[in-house]
Amino acid sequence: MRIMVECSGSRSVVGLAAAASPMLNMETLRQKHRFSKVTTTRRGGGSGLPVGDDGGGEEEGVVVILGATGTGKSKLSIDIGKSFPVEVINSDKMQVYDGYDITTNKMTVAERRGVLHHLLGELENDVELSPLGFRSLASRRIAAIQSRKRLPVVAGGSNSYVHALMAKKYDAENANIAGDGGLNYRSCLLWVDVGWEALVMQLDRRVDDMVAMGMVEELAVNFNRSRAEQGIYKGIEKAIGVPEFDKFFLNHSPNTWLTTGNCTKKMKKEYKSAVEEIKLNTRVLARNQVAKIECLISAAGWNIRRLDATEVVRKRINGVQKKEVEMEWERTVLRPAMADVGNFVRRGSNGGASSVGSEFWSSNYALSAMKQAAGGGGSGVAHQKF
Ligand code: ATP
Repeated sequence: MRIMVECSGSRSVVGLAAAASPMLNMETLRQKHRFSKVTTTRRGGGSGLPVGDDGGGEEEGVVVILGATGTGKSKLSIDIGKSFPVEVINSDKMQVYDGYDITTNKMTVAERRGVLHHLLGELENDVELSPLGFRSLASRRIAAIQSRKRLPVVAGGSNSYVHALMAKKYDAENANIAGDGGLNYRSCLLWVDVGWEALVMQLDRRVDDMVAMGMVEELAVNFNRSRAEQGIYKGIEKAIGVPEFDKFFLNHSPNTWLTTGNCTKKMKKEYKSAVEEIKLNTRVLARNQVAKIECLISAAGWNIRRLDATEVVRKRINGVQKKEVEMEWERTVLRPAMADVGNFVRRGSNGGASSVGSEFWSSNYALSAMKQAAGGGGSGVAHQKF
């Protein structure tokens, strides 16, 4: 199923105010992970402008992975990282914040498989990160990654963030997706897509998995009565799951729920309907994400390569063996993606030689990437959940 939506910008744009907020001060942005000491100096003078505003930083290019929630964007970014020297920049507007790791389905450190991630759980929730703010932060990270001769891969479901980062002419006051399609970076744009029926099943199942992993406990621990009573949500509190379970915990004390485990019939009914609401809202999110990607293609003219992961998801839902599911992933998603990325990296800037890791082309990375591009299969890439 495809719906038609207006190609409008984010409803949650905070805009210029947030871009100028203390949130964007690198000191305030104390990072909690080992990539926290990433240098933010950019080539071309450090004017403080996002790369691309002055045309600098275009030369090496960026890989962008788009797609609805639950399609396998994170897995693809990690799989690409097995063959190319990448660093990933998260572009999910909930996952940029610290906390609610299960609710926002953040990748664990183990799932990152040693691939360096940026803007993943780095920010405190005291100021919302607007698309303009993301543009500013992410462009600095791109410059830093490129200065290390590595390949930046932007991956995540917030298309308002990706649009803000990539659009040459970005107007924060009117963030409608339109225009001449000019991009800030030489780019390889990949879209992991899953047919609607399969996606809905996958998303419903993922919500059940998240509940089993402790999502409701996480929501109970983070419950805030005044927020719930006022119904005012900012930043990560907008994550699907928070408002839905606030209603439940307003009626049933989270402490009692956590400690006694007592559940009346009425509670069970309300709990079930909160989970159902999460499933419904996740579908709405996915539908809007797909519609926005279609807008990036049709209205902004972005040249996005669609990778169809429907069969992968179908197989997994039908309980087909893991190995077979992985082979389907390699055939329909990974191999074509690797071929595109391989060509993209090899071409380098302006068709010239790439400077992505001079050591890269004489390494195993290159060999395996070339094998992939040639359809050699057998990447030996580890399995990750998505
Ligand atoms: P919009 O214009 O609708 O804000 P967007 O592209 O800027 O779109 P999305 O990533 O589509 O942003 O997020 C829209 C909303 O979906 C978020 O405000 C949040 O409620 C929910 N959402 C997005 N990502 C997640 C996530 N990882 N976990 C939970 N909820 C999420």
